[in-house]
Amino acid sequence: MSIFIRGATVLAMGGAQGSVPFVGDVHVEGERIKAIGTGLPVPEGAEIIDGTGKLVMPGLINAHLHSGEALYKGRYDNMPLEIWMLYSYPILGAKALSERMIYLRSMVVAIESLKTGVTCLTDDIFEAPRQTLGQLGAAVAAYDDAGIRATVSGHVMDRDFLDSIPYSREHVPAELQAEVAKLVPPTTAEYIAFAKEAYAAFHGRSGRIRFMLAPSAPQRCTPELMQAANELALEWQVPFHTHIVETKVQGVTGPALYGKTLMRYMADLGLMHPGVTIAHSIWVTEDDIALMGEAGVSIVHNTISNQKLGAGVAPVRKLLEAGVNVALGSDGICSNDTPRMFDVMHACGLIHKVTTPDYKQWLSAAEVLHACTLAGAKSAMIGHETGSLEAGKKADLLILNLDTVSFTPRNDILNHLVYCENGSSIEKVMVNGEIVVADGKLTKIDEAALLAELRALMPEFNAYHSGVEARNRAFEPYFDAIHRRCNSQDLGVHRLIGNSDMWPA
Ligand SMILES: [Zn+2]
Repeated sequence: MSIFIRGATVLAMGGAQGSVPFVGDVHVEGERIKAIGTGLPVPEGAEIIDGTGKLVMPGLINAHLHSGEALYKGRYDNMPLEIWMLYSYPILGAKALSERMIYLRSMVVAIESLKTGVTCLTDDIFEAPRQTLGQLGAAVAAYDDAGIRATVSGHVMDRDFLDSIPYSREHVPAELQAEVAKLVPPTTAEYIAFAKEAYAAFHGRSGRIRFMLAPSAPQRCTPELMQAANELALEWQVPFHTHIVETKVQGVTGPALYGKTLMRYMADLGLMHPGVTIAHSIWVTEDDIALMGEAGVSIVHNTISNQKLGAGVAPVRKLLEAGVNVALGSDGICSNDTPRMFDVMHACGLIHKVTTPDYKQWLSAAEVLHACTLAGAKSAMIGHETGSLEAGKKADLLILNLDTVSFTPRNDILNHLVYCENGSSIEKVMVNGEIVVADGKLTKIDEAALLAELRALMPEFNAYHSGVEARNRAFEPYFDAIHRRCNSQDLGVHRLIGNSDMWPA
């Protein structure tokens, strides 16, 4: 199968042209870009797409999301992470979801992602009480069927959840602590056995699906589990994907639990290297930033989620200057509450401008687009395969109509993509050389039937989940006290916007 896009405006985001748009052609042969340039010969027998008035660009990459939250889309507001988690990641009473529900839940994410130009995502999938191979397989099947490129985990925690929250033993009553203590986390051996089975079953499927190791966070996992997971990540050359210092509570956590920052703790365990992807990285110190740059890690900047949960603003300019690879993510589908990366790019382009009056430090549209394409691919360790339009890479690309209102009148294309466009100008989406969205519809699945099936299952699910919420509400006053206590401390790091990021006296 050969497709030739002729005479389009091309934004390659890599190769010789980089982020400078040019008028040219893109020749796709099978799964890959065979050639890209100006005045290419038309290959015999190729399907020709007229590029007049069109933009061809790499598909967007969502480097951090949790599809597990998709059933709670639009359900919560005005809660910081630690309180919001009581409902979206309940400690007590959550039951295993059916594989069909997980398939539909993942499909909702895949549909919205593809229709808004995301060709590749990293889905850190948590299942309560413990992920099974069949449950992970259901998510993989959805991504495979929809035609998106995906790296999936393997999200795991193996410590008593209360031990991951500073001061919890002082605030949470003994009877609630005892209930949490009854939960049995997976052992390191069990998680490693699961990871090996998952890797064998899913990694490499359809040339699009990959598996990764994802210990939740250094305060939520034992060093034994993290180091065993890291060994597999290095052996398989897949990401070690984790979360570090999203909230100020987590900024307090490292010194309170380990006498050092969580980033320093990870470095001391040998868990900082170019295969490590860190979600958030907000409450980092200058020392943290330096060691992250030296180690060559990736971070995922979850611009919208970090605002929704009041977590703060990651110091992206400092991280970039230190040499950290900065990708963009939606984060979970109920802390955002969508996987639309055009929205995330827009928010990212804007928010850093209100963190400093030094406008030379603000992010450019080209930097935002790089974070949402090639840097995202690099964080998933597939920067050599996708993330830019270059000969030899996988054909993961978007065709946008430049005659829409978002691009009329047209000035700087990169500025339009970050500040004007929202995905509604997308005409075609190609993943792995295959057109998976055309005329506003997914080509490989019956979107309306799948959405209707999920809608029909939701009343029963919501009734069950309301009961789980009621049970976990018991923790809320104590987590509220911990949130206040941590946010009253001066860490010497300021990441919230306002006159003060301390809890008001
Ligand atoms: Zn996350």
